[in-house]
Amino acid sequence: MTRTRKALAVAGAAGLAVLAASVLLAPPRTIRLRQPDWRPPGAVLRGAFHVHTTRSDGTGTVEEVAAAAARAGLQFVVFTDHGDATRPPDPPRYISGVLCLDGVEISTTGGHYAAIGLPASPYPLAGEPRDVVEDVARLGGFGVVTHPHSRKPGLAWSAWNTGFDAIEWLNADSEWRDESATRLARVVATYPFRPAESLASLLDGQEALDRWDRAAASRRVVALAGADAHARLGTPGRSDPYEGPALLRLPSYESSFRTFSLHVRMPGGPSGQAADDGWALVEAIRAGHLHTVVDARAAPAAFEFTAHAGDETAGEGDSLPSAGPVVFRVRSNAPVYSDVILLRDGREVHRVARQSLVYATDKPGTYRAEVRLGRGGSRPQVPWIVSNAIVVGAAPAREPDLAPPVETVQALSPGAWKGERDGRSAGEVQPAATSVTLRFRLGRGAPAGQYSAMAAPVSIPPGANAVAFDVMADRPMRISVQLRAPGGEEGERWQRSVYADPSSRLVVVPIAEMTPAGHTRTPAPPASAVTSLLFVVDTVNTAPGTSGEIALGDVRLVKTSGKRQQETGTR
Ligand SMILES: [Zn+2]
Ligand SMILES: [Zn+2]
Repeated sequence: MTRTRKALAVAGAAGLAVLAASVLLAPPRTIRLRQPDWRPPGAVLRGAFHVHTTRSDGTGTVEEVAAAAARAGLQFVVFTDHGDATRPPDPPRYISGVLCLDGVEISTTGGHYAAIGLPASPYPLAGEPRDVVEDVARLGGFGVVTHPHSRKPGLAWSAWNTGFDAIEWLNADSEWRDESATRLARVVATYPFRPAESLASLLDGQEALDRWDRAAASRRVVALAGADAHARLGTPGRSDPYEGPALLRLPSYESSFRTFSLHVRMPGGPSGQAADDGWALVEAIRAGHLHTVVDARAAPAAFEFTAHAGDETAGEGDSLPSAGPVVFRVRSNAPVYSDVILLRDGREVHRVARQSLVYATDKPGTYRAEVRLGRGGSRPQVPWIVSNAIVVGAAPAREPDLAPPVETVQALSPGAWKGERDGRSAGEVQPAATSVTLRFRLGRGAPAGQYSAMAAPVSIPPGANAVAFDVMADRPMRISVQLRAPGGEEGERWQRSVYADPSSRLVVVPIAEMTPAGHTRTPAPPASAVTSLLFVVDTVNTAPGTSGEIALGDVRLVKTSGKRQQETGTR
């Protein structure tokens, strides 16, 4: 044998060995299911939520992604390209027969929040998660905490006490980040043979399920699965596959879409009119009329979760008053070696190894169902279907949003304010009898620290624990209320962002709720060190080049009592 032939033979043998190993390692094929002899009423639309295109860091155009969704048998796709929500969303449209909805994934300082069903925002949405959650709600949108437990710093959600509408119990991007190199290598090896099954082998979602259960025990929170599809495998050596040029367009959109899907219940079914169907789909998602199916494990799935009390019936996302007994029913076409599980407030209350479950109870709570596949034992069962919740009994009453009683400790004179700004921006402070106006213009160009502010000297008197003022702006916007103490080059600062628009509102900002701004190291403002109070317009929520006017009345340091110290006023 010549050297070349020998090398070829060795390479061939090695190739065969890799091939054989890949086939042996391959995850089980998707179990093909038969349709049951029952059907849930109405129509069920299958689709994908959380998809990136070439408009942000995905590699496919809207048209290419819609075509991939059609090939995977989906009826809708929800696009959530990264953005600040100022781009007007595309109206709903059918492309390749797939209903395409346009949303946005907003980066906050404490994780990502995807929003659908909202118009273009009048100002960039960014900053603290609590503010972005509030802004999305004010705009009438539906917001989803995406990849809440991502291992990548900056991507995990940090604001669990905010009023987010929904959470991704499963996110395909988070699921690979927490895997060992061996496990990932195995997926890469088997992907060419069984793409969707290989991707599904990484999914468990347990951490986010636990978090959802905790949040949903006290208020309504919808759970859905996020494809987080980018079809991008970046340059090796970068810290993230989405940075730098795309090396390969993998995993493909189509295989992502074949891995799992949302099954959304739409009573009337789609009409074919994109605007109507888009609206109905957003409302169905908002109502939690949906469940997630990991289709790569078994398909096509049929599933129904209902609760019955007297002649009332509730489905996923609905609630029932808790007078008298409630009977829960779960049915599916699950394959053998599967369990149906009913959970109340995150705890298992009933489990059967059959396709249907019936359970009667008179206990109020948040109930949800899961179907898990596998024999159990040493190999843990994996989720196949995760439902949304049915709430039995009245949800806990929300505390009324009343203004807390405030007692003025020290009033600030309208004449005390001076303008401050960076070299490119402008600002003019005009005091009146009881109010002060800032006319601002942020410098043009890319955001690079442009700001226009007004500042007054203060020392926080004993007993004062909040800043109170009336605020009005010539347009909807956000203003940063800041306390400053000497230290470092720019001083140490703490801030709280507040919303303002042309209607006057009373705002109370508890000092304890302010968080560090800029390079500040002290987590909370030390009252004795504070020397100034500032109202700042900056590029966090205001586009460069914007000019406008804000008016502040009756600025004072106050003492609040009572539990609720939130921003209040006319909403
Ligand atoms: Zn994200
Ligand atoms: Zn994303």
